[in-house]
Amino acid sequence: MNSKVISAKEIAKADPVFGQLSFDNHEQIVFCNDKDTGLKAIIGIHNTVLGPALGGTRMWNYANEWEALNDVLRLSRGMTFKSAITGLNLGGGKAVIIGDAKTQKTPELMRKFGEFVHSLSGKYITAEDVGMTTEDMDTVREVTPYVTGISESKGGSGNPSPITAYGVFMGMKAAAKYKFGSDVLAGKSVFVQGIGNVGEALVGYLVKEGAKVTITDLSEERLHTVSNKYGVAIYKGNDLYNEAMDIYAPCALGATINDETINKIKAQVIAGAANNQLAEDRHGVMLQEKGIVYAPDFLINAGGIINVYAELENYDKQEIIRRTENIYNTTLEILKRAAANGATPNVAALNTAKERIAKRKIEKSK
Ligand code: NAD
Repeated sequence: MNSKVISAKEIAKADPVFGQLSFDNHEQIVFCNDKDTGLKAIIGIHNTVLGPALGGTRMWNYANEWEALNDVLRLSRGMTFKSAITGLNLGGGKAVIIGDAKTQKTPELMRKFGEFVHSLSGKYITAEDVGMTTEDMDTVREVTPYVTGISESKGGSGNPSPITAYGVFMGMKAAAKYKFGSDVLAGKSVFVQGIGNVGEALVGYLVKEGAKVTITDLSEERLHTVSNKYGVAIYKGNDLYNEAMDIYAPCALGATINDETINKIKAQVIAGAANNQLAEDRHGVMLQEKGIVYAPDFLINAGGIINVYAELENYDKQEIIRRTENIYNTTLEILKRAAANGATPNVAALNTAKERIAKRKIEKSK
């Protein structure tokens, strides 16, 4: 045996899947390829102790396969803990399709992807994520029942994004209550980064409450549409992280809290929809040291999964709202629990989720 110490980078090269740093004992990873439609996808099933692995499909123009694999590993793991902490009987899974959703997505490609999902016999259930629409899920539904987030006209729960935004709003209010002593957001300056499906709906809730909202996005068109619709300011600077603000709401992609940004951040509360906002766990510790209250992403962005879970459990809109509103209580509990245990909110939320999974595992083994 070679006792030489090798770097994580070298290990990743030697063991391209199980050796990845983001590999966390995932149960199954499925690589899907179809020459005719150009489909290249990866399905990650992280954990199925609580139930079938449910999580959306993301279509993204990844720079390379490592990036796609890393994303699916991180996202599917996040789903395990999201469902666990939300009290749903679901495991964690996610899929990524490599490609540009605007130019490479076709009904044939989506149907082929659906066939791969079907081949897993319900162990993985898909839904929409970035680059996907309810119509795409309707197409997948043509070849497999293992899909949620179907159009309301087809008996599904429709676009989950507005409910996701509502849950983020609830989580943000809870974090504000914890940090400022009041959950009223009127007058608070909130920067929403990414005003796509979720970000826009969040802007709507914030404006209604009287918050001072500033938006930023890569798309000029989106910025003007949302700014005109809600009367909110467009960020004109070039370093958002350096700006003074009360609340930062990351609603674009993950890992925006990283070595580069962490020392600049002046927000007092961070609460947004993006998955995996902390580049690494240690960034959660750094936020805590700076006195910034971080509402764990996988806890407060669970509205969407609550919404699609209704398709499997047959509960109605009222119950969806009730469960989503409960994110407020869970967030406050987690923030208090973290403080009591000297842990970061992210770790406290993870531990709570892991406890539920461990308990179920014991029950199942009896
Ligand atoms: P979306 O694709 O509709 O919107 C994302 C927006 O972010 C786009 O307008 C894009 O232009 C913008 N963007 C991308 N990179 C950016 C950057 N560097 N700076 C500023 N803007 C940028 O996606 P969505 O459905 O609104 O989801 C947003 C985030 O929330 C994603 O991370 C997603 O995984 C997460 N999320 C979504 C849901 C849901 O129900 N849709 C549920 C849970 C989590």
